[in-house]
Amino acid sequence: MTSIKTRIAPSPTGYLHVGTARTALFNYLFAKQNKGEFVLRIEDTDKERSTKEFEDDIKEGLSWLGIEWDHTHTQQAEMEHHKKVLEELIEKGAAYVSQEEVKKEGDRPEVIRFKNPKTPITFKDIIRGEVTMETESLGDFVIAKDMESPLYHLAVVADDANHNVTHVIRGEDGISNTPRQILIQQALGYKTPIYAHLPLILAPDKTKLSKRHGAVSIIEYKKMGYLKEALLNYLVLLGWHPKGEEEILSLEEMIKLFSLESVQKGGAIFDTEKLNWINRHYVGNLNESEFEKYIQNYVPEEIINHSKKEAIYELLKERIDKASDIQELHENGELSYYYKEPALDTDLIGGNKKAPPKEETIRHLEALIEALNNAEFTKEDIKNAVWSYAEEHGRGNVLWPMRYSLSGAPKSPDPFTLAEILGKEETIKRLTKACNALQ
Ligand code: GLU
Repeated sequence: MTSIKTRIAPSPTGYLHVGTARTALFNYLFAKQNKGEFVLRIEDTDKERSTKEFEDDIKEGLSWLGIEWDHTHTQQAEMEHHKKVLEELIEKGAAYVSQEEVKKEGDRPEVIRFKNPKTPITFKDIIRGEVTMETESLGDFVIAKDMESPLYHLAVVADDANHNVTHVIRGEDGISNTPRQILIQQALGYKTPIYAHLPLILAPDKTKLSKRHGAVSIIEYKKMGYLKEALLNYLVLLGWHPKGEEEILSLEEMIKLFSLESVQKGGAIFDTEKLNWINRHYVGNLNESEFEKYIQNYVPEEIINHSKKEAIYELLKERIDKASDIQELHENGELSYYYKEPALDTDLIGGNKKAPPKEETIRHLEALIEALNNAEFTKEDIKNAVWSYAEEHGRGNVLWPMRYSLSGAPKSPDPFTLAEILGKEETIKRLTKACNALQ
């Protein structure tokens, strides 16, 4: 039995796209569950547009996600082989040198064309079943610009065969290339690999996912502070679903459960809400020191150095979908009140909608100050000290001024949690300041 070999074949003409990462993952899982090999082939035949920076980004992104390849090579490195394959095709009469069909007069550079027998092609697709496509309309298509410059179809066929690729698992957008590639394989007497064309990844508006929908590269998701385990877990669900209810899967579990046969045919919608849900799940599993490390590049210095940082981190852990949300919270003034006395809008101290008369809010603040002066300062103690008063005078009328005086922000954790973090002295100071501001 030949051992299974799959490959991902990105062109280094852009950053690692989520779609490429998903396709890489499916190739990886299929190879690993069959004790086979997974190859990374950098398709750099387009010399002008291919860059080392993009190649490095693709490799870094795949490694970061944990999608490790067993072997990697570039197409440039296979040039000699491509040339031999071209020569063989010409010798066999399956390809010929012709002049490029250019409209304008003058130079008519030569190109190498495949002599298309125009027979219909039928191939086995694990996801789509048997697929038959006509080839007549393809004409004698160009396979190389010259003997040194093979084009995509020739290079793919030569490399897949040379490296014994058994399964070509790629995006559905590649399906129209398949008949041309099979024609070339047949002309060379190569075995046709088994195909699996994966569903496209679509934006919520059902159009192909692209830049205008937001982030599309893995590096952008990394920068936003998604955990690699979460992103990988999300990617596996783009077009495939495990049999049971459980959607949270480690890489090992994916290798065990993944099934190429049960990949869906229809497009897979990229749903950021779902990604966020999965990320929250993984964030929830981080212990204190892991969480601290996870957010360290996103959290302001003042919080890192805060004497109550553990308590603040616990709150942040509840509130964020991903690490960069912390920056957003900070920009919206939802972190600075932990370490800096907030500026208060006197009109908002009593409430943000129907505030009771000023005098009433002053009385509530004075009562709060008195009650808290005599209280121990754990969250529970604080709540116990003010709860019955708040019940009696209307929770909103009492607790809004308390919370707002401490945070100066339209949104913040509840006043008891805030007061505990700020400590007694600072809490009383801020309540007094609010009270004075109303006089
Ligand atoms: N370089 C091609 C792409 O990025 C690879 C397609 C294939 O897997 O054959 O779309």
